Amino acid sequence: MIDFSMGVLKLDKNRKYLAMLAPSFVTMYEYPSIVYKLRMLGFDKVTEVTFGAKMTNLFYYSFLKDKLEKGEKKTWIASPCPTLVTFIRTKYPHLVENLVPVHSPVGCMALICKKFYPNHKIVFIGPCLTKKLEAQELGTIDAVLTFKELNDWMVEENIPEEVTDSKYHISFDKFYNDYTKIYPTSGGLSDTLNGSKILSDKDILIMEGIPNLVKVFDQFKDGVYKNYKFLDILNCMGGCINGPGMFGTSSIEERRKRIFKYRDYAWRYEKDLGRTGYRVHVEDLDFHRDF
Ligand code: SF4
Repeated sequence: MIDFSMGVLKLDKNRKYLAMLAPSFVTMYEYPSIVYKLRMLGFDKVTEVTFGAKMTNLFYYSFLKDKLEKGEKKTWIASPCPTLVTFIRTKYPHLVENLVPVHSPVGCMALICKKFYPNHKIVFIGPCLTKKLEAQELGTIDAVLTFKELNDWMVEENIPEEVTDSKYHISFDKFYNDYTKIYPTSGGLSDTLNGSKILSDKDILIMEGIPNLVKVFDQFKDGVYKNYKFLDILNCMGGCINGPGMFGTSSIEERRKRIFKYRDYAWRYEKDLGRTGYRVHVEDLDFHRDF
């Protein structure tokens, strides 16, 4: 177990560690200097969760396609947000069977990292507190840090604001994906699903916030909510870019802009660097998850 006391990780010098960074990082930190900083903290590998998000989406696509083609009448509920999963399990247990049975991007990425780096300890760093619960349940992630906790740790270790030491690799390790970099924004899942052949805009409800969602869950009838086929829902207003583990005062709109700018940058400059993850890399992995 990793020693994680007072919000500061103590890494064992005799072990290797891998950081899985949530794509919302770019709203809080500069890229690529954050990758340097994580390597300075002691991470041997630094990956981005975007390839995990791609695999989550590929599973969603084939799952929803199959169900829709069979004419199954159900409103399916997105399951990457552990706060909502816990809420549904506790308050609306009859809707658990509506959750799409697949790992979240973090859960998928942990399986991918375990495959490629089986001896590394895995640390997820992101905007979310309840990912700590998800990690405990899955058992594939050794520790979860919020961005606030990462800041405390960097202060403790005297990591400078500007880091350009050439002995540290500048970029992420394998594997990453470009188009899922917008995943942490509101509607990010359905926007990156490439699902226009199976779902139209009117089939999808995008919504955030438990007070809003309670009204939706209360109106489910026999597993169906109105005419919707899929609910792309999250707990935090605006999406994970507004998670409880974020810091600073930037607005949701400013954070969205940074996310899209980063996605566009990756499209332009980071393609073909040999770090893009493809389905063929992980064909042997099972991303199914029962709730
Ligand atoms: S919406 Fe909020 S609670 Fe849900 S996964 Fe994102 S950061 Fe966590």
